Amino acid sequence: MPVITNKQQMLQHVQNVLRKKFASAVEKCPSGRPLLEELIYAICRENTTPAAASAAYERLVKSFIDWNEVRVSTVSEVAEALHPLPAAGVRARRIIGLLQKVFEERYSFSLEDLEKKGLKQAAKQLSRYKNDVTDYTVAWAIQRFLNGHAIPLDDATLRVLQRLGILEEEIDPEQMESLRGTVEHVVTKARGPEFTDLISLLAHEWCVENHPQCSHCPLRGDCPTGVQNTTGRKPDSRARKSRS
Ligand code: SF4
Repeated sequence: MPVITNKQQMLQHVQNVLRKKFASAVEKCPSGRPLLEELIYAICRENTTPAAASAAYERLVKSFIDWNEVRVSTVSEVAEALHPLPAAGVRARRIIGLLQKVFEERYSFSLEDLEKKGLKQAAKQLSRYKNDVTDYTVAWAIQRFLNGHAIPLDDATLRVLQRLGILEEEIDPEQMESLRGTVEHVVTKARGPEFTDLISLLAHEWCVENHPQCSHCPLRGDCPTGVQNTTGRKPDSRARKSRS
């Protein structure tokens, strides 16, 4: 079967196939969390699944009295609450760093005023908490909280989109906004949150980093990399170049 070459159709098809597998694992959107908590959740969510991030976030909330206690705790104490989330130490450092920056700026843990500033201004303000708040975190807040159109791209999502042949350019971490533009052009705002969740579930279940499990993946007949890995032949001329 030839692989689908139109990127928009391809991603719509991918989403339809994955929805049948993972419908119950997709998160509710909006979540009802305040903005600062959505940012902390996004730090937990990057490169993992909705279930793993939710469990870690809940452990974090239950382990400390409030956000100030998290702020004044050590990285290893916060990481312990996040465990077994991958890279728990890095995430813990970012959460503490974000809380510290917000506290120094506001003497509180509320970012409510940003909601009234409009999308661009709010995103600009959030980007100022850099290192702790990445392009992924800002895009997550735009998608899940600020009611805008953004597709958060973590390493897992980028890997899947490359293998599917959607992103053909080299990944330059300095050019994340432009890469997001490419994806946001072919995934509508209405489909965005579900798309984000489904792709991260695909990345976790079959499209893992080192050895993708193409022979078990429901997309193996449509994905250029899957075709190549399961049949040994290169995708036909209608397929885009893919990266494995
Ligand atoms: S077929 Fe293989 S490379 Fe393609 S999405 Fe599935 S696991 Fe990833």
